[in-house]
Amino acid sequence: MSCEYKYIKKCVYELAKLTEKDKPYTRLVFSKQFQRARKWLVNQFKSLDLEVRVDNAGNLIGSYKSKNHSTKKILIGSHLDTVPSGGRFDGIAGIVSSLSILKNFREKKIAFPFDIELYDYLGEELNDWSISCIGTRGMTGLLDEEILNRMDSKGRILRDEINKVGGSSKKLIKKFSLFQDVIACFELHIEQGITLQNNKIDVGIVKSIPNISRHRINIKGQAGHSGTTLMDNRKDALLYASSLIIFINKLANQFSKKDNRHFVATVGKIINFPNSATIISGSVELIVDLRVVNSHSREQFLKKLNSQINDFNKSKKILIDMEQIAYSPYVEMSKEVNQILEKSAKQKNISFIYMDSGAGHDTAHLSRVAPASMIFIPCRDGLSHCPEEYAKVCDIEKGSKVIQNAILGIAKNLKAY
Ligand SMILES: [Zn+2]
Repeated sequence: MSCEYKYIKKCVYELAKLTEKDKPYTRLVFSKQFQRARKWLVNQFKSLDLEVRVDNAGNLIGSYKSKNHSTKKILIGSHLDTVPSGGRFDGIAGIVSSLSILKNFREKKIAFPFDIELYDYLGEELNDWSISCIGTRGMTGLLDEEILNRMDSKGRILRDEINKVGGSSKKLIKKFSLFQDVIACFELHIEQGITLQNNKIDVGIVKSIPNISRHRINIKGQAGHSGTTLMDNRKDALLYASSLIIFINKLANQFSKKDNRHFVATVGKIINFPNSATIISGSVELIVDLRVVNSHSREQFLKKLNSQINDFNKSKKILIDMEQIAYSPYVEMSKEVNQILEKSAKQKNISFIYMDSGAGHDTAHLSRVAPASMIFIPCRDGLSHCPEEYAKVCDIEKGSKVIQNAILGIAKNLKAY
């Protein structure tokens, strides 16, 4: 068992303890558990002699400084926050892997011609303010006044929470600007799918992060007495909702089969009103989550869904409308960074495939301003965002090796010039 193995394991289990006691594994952004985990991370940074700071967007950064005071840097890291009742590896694997990389460099006293900055990107998971990737949106000019002034269900304003963790919401850059000094960004993450496990592959080099959109469907029927309203006299909103859920699933199956890139659609949220055993459903709200690489397929899917909704509306029994409530565009990872990762994996005899991500990640935002990409590692049975989520320490170690060797390769190339 290597030192890295022991260190990664120790870190994963220490962080798993910093979660809500009665709701494993929960560490929501800005929560007490989150603040404790950040304190833990600051201590790790200090023990590795990293320079610690928090940027305007509230990201926590540990910096392995270059010897020549270079302004150039490489970004590594991921996120400490989890979804409610999430797992011990989503985000955490990337943080812990990055710690082990810097620990290794420090122990070997390796000096680099650039800084290596380890980021805990603030609040990657979708939260009560209906926003994901707070930290990377903040870094790249995508946190506007409307988002910053949003209030959650407990009455907390997002900008106040960012300021409380050491950020400075007033100073957030408003404009999109390229990160000229960033040579590359690397993020290790669990796959959250089953491809690597099924194909017995060590790592996935990520080609792209799909277009992610959410659509709210409102279905308006007529509430009524469940005992006295005859069957042919009903305007049952829940019945139409169930037809739509099945339609969306069937349609997504068809598209996913004919598209050879990632295509998934999910109805995971439903609000039924008044939701009573003795009342015919009066109205329903559904949220469709759509994640697609191919934009043409996306358009076709939405066109067919709209035409089904129109058909239902023609019956005059029901009124259905659909609106887009969230959108993040398709992004490609940097081909140059992926070439470096591929070369590194080959040098280390670590098997790899290229793959599309199904999930959104901080790297999607970073890739718009700097050369960036991701390494996926297998996660057991593809389970994620649940307490069963599991990744083997030796797999985290292999993924870390690919990134570590890639950083060494970049340094070697820079010195050659
Ligand atoms: Zn994640």
